[in-house]
Amino acid sequence: MLPFEVMQQVHNEWFSWNQSGLSAVEISHREKNFEAMIHQTKDLLRQLLAIPENYQVIFLQGGATLVWSSLPMNIAWGKKAGYVVSGMWSQKAFNEAKKYLNPDEVANSNCNGFFYDYPNPAKWNINPEYKYLHYCSNETIQGIQFPTIPSIDIPLACDMSSDILSRKIDVTKFGAIYAGAQKNMGVAGLTVLIIRKDWLDLNHEKSNLIPRTLNYQNVSEQKSLVNTPCTFAIYVCNLVLKWLKSLGGVAEIEKINNQKAMLLYDYLDNNDFYQTTIKKEARSKMNVTFKLRNESLQEKFIRESDSSGLKQLKGHRLQGGLRASIYNSMPIAGVETLIDFLEDFAKKNN
Ligand SMILES: *Cc1c(COP(=O)(O)O)cnc(C)c1O
Repeated sequence: MLPFEVMQQVHNEWFSWNQSGLSAVEISHREKNFEAMIHQTKDLLRQLLAIPENYQVIFLQGGATLVWSSLPMNIAWGKKAGYVVSGMWSQKAFNEAKKYLNPDEVANSNCNGFFYDYPNPAKWNINPEYKYLHYCSNETIQGIQFPTIPSIDIPLACDMSSDILSRKIDVTKFGAIYAGAQKNMGVAGLTVLIIRKDWLDLNHEKSNLIPRTLNYQNVSEQKSLVNTPCTFAIYVCNLVLKWLKSLGGVAEIEKINNQKAMLLYDYLDNNDFYQTTIKKEARSKMNVTFKLRNESLQEKFIRESDSSGLKQLKGHRLQGGLRASIYNSMPIAGVETLIDFLEDFAKKNN
């Protein structure tokens, strides 16, 4: 979901953005004020995540999915890199990387086809020749989140699509952080890449094979305007970041996120009607996965929750069960409403 205030602003200025007489989706990305807005969006990200000077923020297209290709292409083509598999997204990133290098699977927490936990970083065998170690901080489908940034000696590359801006992070631990905008920063169409500047020095033997729109050095030099970007997604991201800043930034939203997750997990833990499946230390604060102890009631649960305004509680098709995504824009009141529904449904169907 998007913050209500952001939806309202998009609605209000739909026909005339910034008093231009044009909609944000009609303006050229080269128009001076629009280009300024694009740069301001990067600046807001820098402020909110305390991104140091030696990092570049660049905007890409193709979602996190295309970064699974462009990251190995740019940084490790034909070289060594390590991959940690903690759920479906990091598994997909690992599979994609195999097209460009021979990546090591440093850890995999798959247990008989399911994931209940994140792999313990203390047990990882890191080859110092790795260009990076890739992992996913929050497995959106399983509802598994690394509670802290793994402490290792080589730079991390992280898919943060579903928990970027949800909690404070130390950017200096990373060579690259990337995220599709649609979970915590707005709508689909924009992919954010935060990358250490020395990683932009591309002169490996394959670099001339990298498409222009995926060549990080080229995208950086052209200020993320190699071709027409998804202007609408950047515009919405700009509004979401301003909303977050006005709320008190990442430190403030982290407190709210902790509170939301605590409320919901506490309720689920204390009610026999429902069951959580992820190990406590690995539980995601963004995607709360659970199921009904009596799974034959699942269809009824989804029908009734949907008609009472609680949308999209069905778990991912590959995971089954139920999932409440409580991203930054979900207010505490939304979680309270869900708990009331859970309580009511349990009473009526017990
Ligand atoms: C949603 C998601 C993706 C897929 O993102 P696209 O933008 O659709 O490519 C990848 N990784 C994570 C962690 C996600 O949550």
